[in-house]
Amino acid sequence: TAQTRTSRVVLVTGASSGIGEATALRLASEGHRVALGARRTDRLEAVAARIVADGGRASVHRLDVTDRDDVRAVVDRVVDEHGRIDVIVNNAGVMPLSRLDALLVDEWDRMIEVNVKGLLHGVAAVLPHFQRQGAGHVVTVASVGAHEVVPTSAVYSATKFAAWAITEGLRLESDPSIRTTTITPGVVESELAQHISDPLALDAMETYRRNVIPADAIARAISFALGQPADVDVNEIIVRPTAQR
Ligand code: NDP
Repeated sequence: TAQTRTSRVVLVTGASSGIGEATALRLASEGHRVALGARRTDRLEAVAARIVADGGRASVHRLDVTDRDDVRAVVDRVVDEHGRIDVIVNNAGVMPLSRLDALLVDEWDRMIEVNVKGLLHGVAAVLPHFQRQGAGHVVTVASVGAHEVVPTSAVYSATKFAAWAITEGLRLESDPSIRTTTITPGVVESELAQHISDPLALDAMETYRRNVIPADAIARAISFALGQPADVDVNEIIVRPTAQR
C-alpha cells in the first residue's frame, strides 16, 4: 500500500524502553527512518543495533526533554541528517504516583517538567519545520489518566490532562496539513512503575498492573495513525487491556 511505501522521518522521545522502544522497533520495521531520543544512550544504542541488524535505519540522540535547547538541537540535527522531520512521537514520561498529602513535591515538579514541559518543548521544536514543509504529524503518548483521576494520580493525571489539551489545541490551531494524534494507553508492560517511591502508591500499583499488555500494542496504534492517508487524522486512540477496569 501507499502508506508502507512512504518512508517517514520519525523522532521518538523516550525510545530507550517500554512504549518508545517498541514504537521505534515497529516503525523501523515498517521502513521508516527513526531517530531515537532519551538520556540512556547505551539503551538507545542497543535498540538501534537491533533495528540495523533487521535492515532498518536508526540514529541515536542523547536527549533530555526537560531541556528546551536540547530538544531543539536534536530536532534540528534530525532535519540536517534527513532533510526533514515528518513525525515526532512525544512519548518520554514519568509516573511517580503518590497521594498529595505525601507531599513528594519534587516528584510533582518532575512530572510537570517531563510530561508537560517536555511535550511543549517537542511541539516548539518541530512546528517551524512542519510549517516550512507544509506537513507534519505530532503524536502524543498521554494515558487513560488524561480522562480519569484515581487516588495517587492527581498530579500524573493533571500532566496527562494537559498533554491531551495541548495536543487538541494544536489540532485546532494548526494548518490543516499538520496532523495530531493522542495515544491513550491503559496498563502497558514497561519500566514506568519502577520509579514510584511512595509505598502506598507502589502497593496499589502492584494490583493495578496485574493485567498488562505488551508495549507493541501501543506501537501498533501509533503505526495505524501514521499509516492513514494525509487527509485522515486519527485524533485519539484509547488502548486498554481487555481486563482493565
Ligand atoms: P518507561 O519508563 O519504560 O519509559 C519511559 C521513557 O521516557 C524512557 O525511555 C525514558 O528514557 C524516557 N524519559 C524519562 N525522562 C526523560 C527525560 N527527561 N528526557 C528524555 N527521555 C526521558 O515507561 P513507558 O514506556 O510506559 O512510558 C512511555 C509513555 O507512556 C509515558 O509518557 C507514560 O506516561 C505513558 N503511559 C504508559 C503507561 C503504562 O502503563 N506503561 C500507561 C499510560 C501512559 P531515559 O530514562 O533513558 O531518559
